[in-house]
Amino acid sequence: MDNKNILISGAGIAGTTLAFWLKEFGFNPTMVENSPTLRKGGHAIDFMGAGYDVAEKMGIIPALKAVDINFSKLVFVDSDNREKGSMDYQKIKIFLNGRAFTLFRSDLARVIYQSIDKGVEIIFGDTIAKIEENRKGVAVMFQSGKTRDFDLLVGADGLHSNVRKLVFGNESQFEKYYGYYTSSFTIDNISLGNNAFSMYNVPYKQVGVFSKNENSTTAFFIFASPEKLAYQHHDIARQKKILKSEFESSGWKCRELLSRIDSTTDFYFDCVSQIKMESWYKSRVALVGDAGYCPSLLSGKGSTLAMVGAYILAGELKQANGDYKKAFEQYQLVFKPFMEKKQKSAQQFAKSFVPKSSFGIWLRNKVFKLMSLSIFSKLFLNQFKDSGLKLKEY
Ligand SMILES: Cc1cc2nc3c(=O)[nH]c(=O)nc-3n(C[C@H](O)[C@H](O)[C@H](O)COP(=O)(O)OP(=O)(O)OC[C@H]3O[C@@H](n4cnc5c(N)ncnc54)[C@H](O)[C@@H]3O)c2cc1C
Repeated sequence: MDNKNILISGAGIAGTTLAFWLKEFGFNPTMVENSPTLRKGGHAIDFMGAGYDVAEKMGIIPALKAVDINFSKLVFVDSDNREKGSMDYQKIKIFLNGRAFTLFRSDLARVIYQSIDKGVEIIFGDTIAKIEENRKGVAVMFQSGKTRDFDLLVGADGLHSNVRKLVFGNESQFEKYYGYYTSSFTIDNISLGNNAFSMYNVPYKQVGVFSKNENSTTAFFIFASPEKLAYQHHDIARQKKILKSEFESSGWKCRELLSRIDSTTDFYFDCVSQIKMESWYKSRVALVGDAGYCPSLLSGKGSTLAMVGAYILAGELKQANGDYKKAFEQYQLVFKPFMEKKQKSAQQFAKSFVPKSSFGIWLRNKVFKLMSLSIFSKLFLNQFKDSGLKLKEY
């Protein structure tokens, strides 16, 4: 096997899945993650389709089952917390033959991380500052000042990828913004006391809340913004301020949830954007997950497709005995047409993602109620089935 030493930037969903498979296939992956520990937080993910298949191959289904939220129903509420519509989630699971979970992103990340071979080196609290390619490999200088040589480099560092910026150019060339921002955080010592996922809307805004147990509730926010907002990705204080000003007067439990925002440890805030690139690789450097093909929240599949891409990339490297030119080309050939379709269908959903009027909210509630009926479930869930992608055995 050639080119065994592979540096992965980012220990999120894509990066950890890639490390798992590279190790499994006989490579020697190293991960660098800029956060000091594995990042916590994030949304609740519908976990099904090809991502479920990859997880099955990894042998992590029992661990994922143990952290499945397994909520009873999605309930749409008004400002007085009265139920205005609902969707029976258990019926949907039955339709998918039980091959579906709802997971918190952080639980998924932790389960994958724990499944990685203990021999894989993980550097926390550092990032790549400089990349230099030569005939033999990639010389990397880290922000800490250390330098290391690797055979290949993979950017799995998310929507605002550092590797993409250093090797392919500025984010603005590849980002397509879809007019929304999203945020999530977990609050301790609040519970809604039911096993439902509650969703509240006012025009252009949506809040979801789920209580994992008596001591922990996660809140998810989405709001429309026609223009991109000016703030730095790392300026959490500014992001919290934006969220407060958007939702503080929106009613329901918004003020209460936001009053706890400063005590949270997993605050997440970002724009809803896709990444579209001509090529996911350049010489000895490739991209996977959001870094290369972010489908956005609108697809409902960002995390599962990050896992699928990581599996295919590692598999093609194995199949080509480490010949990265062949492998990267094949990875793109196999997976890019499928991803482009997924991005396109997510894009079509953008305008109607959050209802923009009271009538729109009423209509959405009715439509979701119908979706609990099996015939409509089928139509709704077909998009999650990932037909059109057959995973190879590598
Ligand atoms: C903490 C967290 C919470 C999230 N919550 C939501 C949410 O609520 N809603 C939503 O739509 N999407 C959310 N996302 C994004 C979602 O997880 C991804 O769309 C999806 O899982 C694809 O995974 P990924 O591995 O490609 O990217 P990510 O899951 O974003 O992982 C990227 C990883 O790279 C690391 N990283 C970033 N920059 C660098 C750097 N310069 N050097 C080294 N490492 C770097 C990050 O810390 C992260 O661990 C969240 C991501 C994170 C990290």
